[in-house]
Amino acid sequence: MEVKVAKFGGSSLADAGQFKKVADIVKADDKRKFIVASAPGKREKGDIKVTDMLYECYDKAVNDEPFEDLLAKIKERYDGIISELGIDIELDADFDKIKASFSNMAGRDYAASRGEFLNSKILAAYLGYQFLDAAKYIFFDDAGKYDWDKTRAKLRPKLEESENAVIPGFYGSMPNGTIKTFSRGGSDITGSIVARAAQAELYENWTDVSGFLIADPRVVKDSEPIKTITYAELRELAYMGASVLHEDAIFPVRSAGIPINIRNTNRPQDHGTMIVSETAEKPEHIITGIAGKKGMSVITIEKDKMNSTVGFGRNVLRSLEKNDVSFEHMPSGIDTMSVIIQTDALTGKETAILDEIHSRVHPDQLYIESDLALITIVGRGMKSTRGTAAILFKALADSRVNVKMIDQGSSELNIIIGVAEEDFEIAMRAIYDAFVQIKK
Ligand code: ASP
Repeated sequence: MEVKVAKFGGSSLADAGQFKKVADIVKADDKRKFIVASAPGKREKGDIKVTDMLYECYDKAVNDEPFEDLLAKIKERYDGIISELGIDIELDADFDKIKASFSNMAGRDYAASRGEFLNSKILAAYLGYQFLDAAKYIFFDDAGKYDWDKTRAKLRPKLEESENAVIPGFYGSMPNGTIKTFSRGGSDITGSIVARAAQAELYENWTDVSGFLIADPRVVKDSEPIKTITYAELRELAYMGASVLHEDAIFPVRSAGIPINIRNTNRPQDHGTMIVSETAEKPEHIITGIAGKKGMSVITIEKDKMNSTVGFGRNVLRSLEKNDVSFEHMPSGIDTMSVIIQTDALTGKETAILDEIHSRVHPDQLYIESDLALITIVGRGMKSTRGTAAILFKALADSRVNVKMIDQGSSELNIIIGVAEEDFEIAMRAIYDAFVQIKK
């Protein structure tokens, strides 16, 4: 089956004008047979997403406050889209049912899921596609994890017999039949599941940016987009907070070898970013992306002959475990060991952790520094290129940035450095310029 699955996000379906762009995109390629839709997102800055309106509305119902006016406002948004598109569909019966279900406490997940349910019904009517309710085809197990076996058993044959369909994103059913949603932004995951079930050749994820940028545009304003990135590279960047796609959306398609193409509904002429398992294509730059995050702390432990003390590392990590704190990295030397931890997770537990480390390993020196930022430089091109570290550290030295920590993954896919938070922006810019700008 030659199929592409196209998922459209909330901003791509925020109003009738956006619906028209979506229809043009869908009709431009007859392989786009299965469409996954989000709820209407923000139309402009300061606007409220329908999903958030639904949560608020349901919370009112639960607290026994009047919620009818807010529900009517939500209906108005949908009615506005319907009348502007000039399609023959009305949602009165749906809203009567929603109102009754809110009064009967049908659950917050049920409430939120109505955003994609209604939007998908409208999109299906507008495209002339079949509507398939995700409640009948996407399943979770008792632990709330999505159940691929059950989903595949129901969804694959249905897609095989369907000419085309619109499927709402974000939700599915629990074994007892109640509605459950994924975490926020979860329509991306539905799209990925549908692509896997359809054995699609491509999963297109249409949003409001033309793919991933090499660096966060809030830090590097003129950053170039990434043309091709591997799943492994994306995982490294996503860990550092680069987000366009829901993190869990990678897994269903990755295991089936289906690439994802991030595209821009407002600029369909742009190539976007291709996310692939492997690529023989030579990377444009040595590095694929740079991402970073502030708000990290480092605990440094020094002790003579640490390297020959059996169980030293385990004892340090036990001290964290006892206080229910996880760590991010652990660069170490012969007589020193550093443990990098998110400052938020550490706050309030510092004394308990330091006391524990003291009593377990009797260090010569023990101290915490906060205000650390981590930057990861990711690139499949680094493995085959000599001198990457030299370019990196020269750029930082030239910008007078002091590097406090270095950690290179053994796969040579990334180098992580730690710098003072105040140097974060300068460091990001310097690295970008060194690897990307010099090529111009
Ligand atoms: N509408 C949901 C949200 O706002 C899910 C999604 O758009 O992917 O999080």
